[in-house]
Amino acid sequence: MAKRDYYEVLGVSKTATDDELKKAYRKLAKKYHPDANPDNKKEAEEKFKEVNEAYETLSDPQKRKMYDQFGPDGPQGFGGGAGGPYGQGGYYSYTTSGFNGFDDFGDLGDIFSSFFGGSGFGGRSRQNNGPTKGADLKANIDISFEDSYLGVEKEIVLNRNETCSVCHGSGARPGTKVETCSMCHGTGTIKQVQNTILGQMQTQRPCNNCHGTGKVIKEPCDECKGKGTVRKQARIKVKIPAGIDDGQTIVLRGEGEPGEKGGSKGDLYIVVRIKKHSIFTRKGDNVLCDVPITFTQATLGAEIEVPMVDGRKEKYRIPEGTQPGTKFTIRNEGFKNINGNYQGDFIFTVQVQVPKRLNKEQRDLLVALAKTMNEQPPIKKKGFFG
Ligand SMILES: [Zn+2]
Ligand SMILES: [Zn+2]
Repeated sequence: MAKRDYYEVLGVSKTATDDELKKAYRKLAKKYHPDANPDNKKEAEEKFKEVNEAYETLSDPQKRKMYDQFGPDGPQGFGGGAGGPYGQGGYYSYTTSGFNGFDDFGDLGDIFSSFFGGSGFGGRSRQNNGPTKGADLKANIDISFEDSYLGVEKEIVLNRNETCSVCHGSGARPGTKVETCSMCHGTGTIKQVQNTILGQMQTQRPCNNCHGTGKVIKEPCDECKGKGTVRKQARIKVKIPAGIDDGQTIVLRGEGEPGEKGGSKGDLYIVVRIKKHSIFTRKGDNVLCDVPITFTQATLGAEIEVPMVDGRKEKYRIPEGTQPGTKFTIRNEGFKNINGNYQGDFIFTVQVQVPKRLNKEQRDLLVALAKTMNEQPPIKKKGFFG
């Protein structure tokens, strides 16, 4: 089944503010909560999940940007391959916190936690005893304008948790066993009956004895101190596709932190930042550039050499009588469109330079020219003379 547009799901515009999103979400979450729809629980549950999924994405500025950029299917076609040691880096990274939607909805939190057994949405569960996806990581990478034009492979260095190689993630010293928690009998949760605005409901709380893991480690692994993971510096190769724009994100699936209890690894989100160039700028998929020409070239026409982003010089014939500020377009020499097969254009604007110093011969020629020119009135511009 095709996924509905998240904005459509929440009934908001693409430019909705955080506040509007929150309001829409709140309204719909109440409306579709399965316990509030005893007659059509199944359908409400589907809607409820859809609303939550939409809100989870759109309420997170980073995820929203990704969604706007890539659509509901997420980024595909680039990213992916990574790993392997080489080079030097030094990028800061941090663990994303997962979905914090509950914090904004204190009164709904209990309802949600009872319905979902205390787990969060979007694959990041918090107090769940089942497989848990590892945390996503985020990193920034700075590249040159040229690299964004041509595409480049870079390496980032970040600290992340990796599965402990001594205990293979169990947390127990090799040769010893992990025991099932006697308090919760391995479920990791303690069940409670609670009164809420929607009636009496069973809620689950994480077990204090095992911290929700369901397991007790009697002899912790020396390497990871029982955590099952160790902090390591990882060097990760990142393929940055030609045409990437400032602020766009590359996702490396499975390059985040390890999951728990067989859960999949988190993902690594890399935000690409592009350094400013001294002569080129970008607008959409077009490259813009100013090219200085002499006033004689402008007047007589000339073949000039235009510097291209990839270092080539492109010969371009400008016609006689070219006015200052005229724009010329070299087709398909702009950025590759990252989502399509087409390429932008290279657009340059001529800056006509008036000479500041002339030698005697040049001056005499110009004076002679001026005498003939002064007999002509200046070319009338619309509106200039009224
Ligand atoms: Zn270990
Ligand atoms: Zn327990």
